[in-house]
Amino acid sequence: MMKIKPPKTRDDLIALLSLTEPDDLQELYDAAYAVKAENVGRVVYYRGLIEFSNYCIKDCKYCGIRKSNDEVERFDTPREDILAMARWAYENKYGSLTIQSGERQDEAFIDYVEGLVRDIKELSDGKLGLTLCVGEQTEETYRRWFEAGAHRYLLRIETSNPALYATLHPDDGHHKWQVRKACLESLRRIGYQVGTGDMIGLPGQTLGDLADDILLYRDMDIDMIGMGPYVVHHNTPIGKAVLASGMDSKEEQKRRLEMGLKMIAVTRLFYPTSTSQRRRPLQALHPLGRELGLKAGANVLMPIVTVPKFRPQYLLYDNKPCVDEVPEQCKNCISARVASVGDTIGFGQLGRFAALFPSQVKGFEPTRA
Ligand code: SAH
Ligand code: SF4
Repeated sequence: MMKIKPPKTRDDLIALLSLTEPDDLQELYDAAYAVKAENVGRVVYYRGLIEFSNYCIKDCKYCGIRKSNDEVERFDTPREDILAMARWAYENKYGSLTIQSGERQDEAFIDYVEGLVRDIKELSDGKLGLTLCVGEQTEETYRRWFEAGAHRYLLRIETSNPALYATLHPDDGHHKWQVRKACLESLRRIGYQVGTGDMIGLPGQTLGDLADDILLYRDMDIDMIGMGPYVVHHNTPIGKAVLASGMDSKEEQKRRLEMGLKMIAVTRLFYPTSTSQRRRPLQALHPLGRELGLKAGANVLMPIVTVPKFRPQYLLYDNKPCVDEVPEQCKNCISARVASVGDTIGFGQLGRFAALFPSQVKGFEPTRA
C-alpha cells in the first residue's frame, strides 16, 4: 500500500499516472476527492450543453463531424429552439449553459452567435451564465462575443505536444497548434474565464505528454479543464487506423477511461486552486463515467440539453451516451449519480467554477466499486 503524496514535479505526475494496481488507484482517487472537498466543497455544478450545429470547416482527423465525413447529415438548430432549450435550462435552475458547435468563421456565423448570446442573457435576466465552445476565432470576434455577454470559453488544446497535434490534424495550414495556443491567450487577455483540456489515450501519446498537459494548465493559469478519453469514430482517419491496428478492444477502451480518471485525480492534486494573483478556485473535470469522475475529484457535470431530434447527428465519437434521451431524463439520471457519490447539487448558482466537455462513455465499470 502506497501513500499518495502531492505531486510537485513532472516526474511526480508521471509516477502517479503510471499507477495501475486497484488499491493504489483507489488511494489516488480518494486523495483527489479529499482535495476537492477541501478546496471547492462536495458540490457539483450543472452546466447544460446545447450542441446547436454540426457544420464544420475543420477536418480534425479524430472527429466524427469533420468536414470530410460525408456520412453526416448536417443541421443548424433553429434559433427559437435554442432559445427554448436555454429557457428550459434556466427554469430548471441550471446555473449556466454551454453552447457548442463545429467551427465556422464567416461573418454570418459570428453575427448569429453574437445575437444568440444577447438573447440568452436577456431571457434569463442576465442570470444564466453562458459559455461558448465554437472553436478558433480572431481576437476581435472573441471580444464581440464577450461584450455581448459570454464570459467563459472552452477551447481544448487537445494535446500540449505540437508534434503529436500535427499527427491529429491535416497539414493544410489551418490546423496549427500555435494558433490554438494563441487563441487561448487572446481569450485570457479579453477577460474570459478560460477552459481548455485534452484527449486522453490518443495514438502515440505518452505519459510525459499527459504530464505536460497538466503543466500547461497550470502555466496558463487555466480556470476550467475539460478532459476526456479519446473515443473512436469509425469514419475518421484516426478511428480507422486504431480499429485496423486492433487498439480498440474492450481492454484498450477501459485503459483509456482509467487513464482519464487518473488525469482528473492527478490534475486535482497538482492544481487544486489556480496559481495566479486572482486565486480563482480551479474547477475540475467533467466526468467520464460520471460518478467515477466525481469520486476522482471532478465537480462539474454537463447534462446534454441539445434538441433531442438533432442528437443523433452530433456524434463526435461512436457510442455516445444519452443520444436517445430528452433533457428531463438526462437531468434525473445525473442527479441520481450525484446523490450516489454523496455530493450535493449547486442548483441555480452561476458558480465560481466552470464546465467541461462531456465525454461520458456508456458502460464503463470501475475496477473497484
Ligand atoms: N468545434 C469546437 C467544439 C466542438 S468539438 C472545437 O473543436 O473546439 C469539442 C471537443 O470534442 C474537441 O475539442 C475534442 O477534444 C472533442 N472530440 C472530438 N472528437 C473526439 C473523439 N473522437 N473522442 C473524444 N473527444 C473528441
Ligand atoms: Fe470541427 Fe471541433 Fe470536430 Fe475539429 S473537433 S472537426 S473543429 S467539431
